[in-house]
Amino acid sequence: MAEIIDGKKIAQEIRQEVAKDVAALKEKTNITPGLAVVIVGEDPASQVYVRGKEKACDEVGIHSEKHTLPADVSEEELLSLVDKLNNDSKIHGVLVQLPLPSHINEDTIIDNIKLEKDVDGFHPSSIGNLLIGKEGFVSCTPHGIIVLLKRTGIDISGKNAVVVGRSNIVGKPVSVLLLAENATVTICHSRTKDLASETRRADILVAAVGKPEVITADMVKDGVTVIDVGVNRVDGKLIGDVDFDEVSKKARAITPVPGGVGPMTIAMLMQNTLKAAQMAAGA
Ligand code: NDP
Repeated sequence: MAEIIDGKKIAQEIRQEVAKDVAALKEKTNITPGLAVVIVGEDPASQVYVRGKEKACDEVGIHSEKHTLPADVSEEELLSLVDKLNNDSKIHGVLVQLPLPSHINEDTIIDNIKLEKDVDGFHPSSIGNLLIGKEGFVSCTPHGIIVLLKRTGIDISGKNAVVVGRSNIVGKPVSVLLLAENATVTICHSRTKDLASETRRADILVAAVGKPEVITADMVKDGVTVIDVGVNRVDGKLIGDVDFDEVSKKARAITPVPGGVGPMTIAMLMQNTLKAAQMAAGA
């Protein structure tokens, strides 16, 4: 039976570390890290994510502000709020909760977040820095996955890592991070010819597909480490992209859904906001 990778516990440890460093920064510079979260419209999933972020900020001593805009807000009005937050010295991180309504161009909004405040790591320059291995903000979910692996004592170097999914927010960046950790990386997607033959070669398998239980036990080898990023709502229950019950019989270690990758995303956001404040303080 596999080791269950306890993302909730590891995320809690990271939040405690961040809380300590937030207190130290305040003590040394009198600066309290500040995060502004902008939410447009009433998307229920987004509301849940934003509440989780606010709660985590409170817990670690980060000042947080929620800016709620109506679903029919214009792109200009949203840009003007982003600009205001870019220039607000109390705010070190600016996060615009995605998805945005279709009349707003997400790329335009993200492009206009100041690089030094891009705690989500979605700005094209942050992604470019990640690709060339330059210091910058790494997006929270992919970074959280690497931290989960490391804190569980899973060696990445020299391993075959297979990532299923190639989105800009999970699949591609986590592949780059695994490569930076010296894994041999295969990226699969909806046009991959024989998915099972690729996933069976994985020592580390990351599933970021968004389809319930597409990764089944016959698709993995014994001793695999499985990171399940998927969050699928089925009959009111949260289900991952991996058939947890069956795959866990073969795996060395596996993340549950919920309680695996999800809590890490928020913990890494706290870490990025602290880092932004430390940089602003020159600390
Ligand atoms: P996207 O829909 O943007 O990307 C899904 C990817 O999966 C695409 O690259 C797609 O291929 C690929 N894919 C779809 N079907 C198949 C298939 N049958 N076989 C192989 N590949 C397939 O999703 P995201 O990356 O944004 O999110 C993935 C999942 O992770 C979702 O469930 C999301 O909710 C969850 N998530 C969880 C987070 C957390 O904090 N826990 C954070 C972010 C996301 P193609 O490119 O060819 O279309």
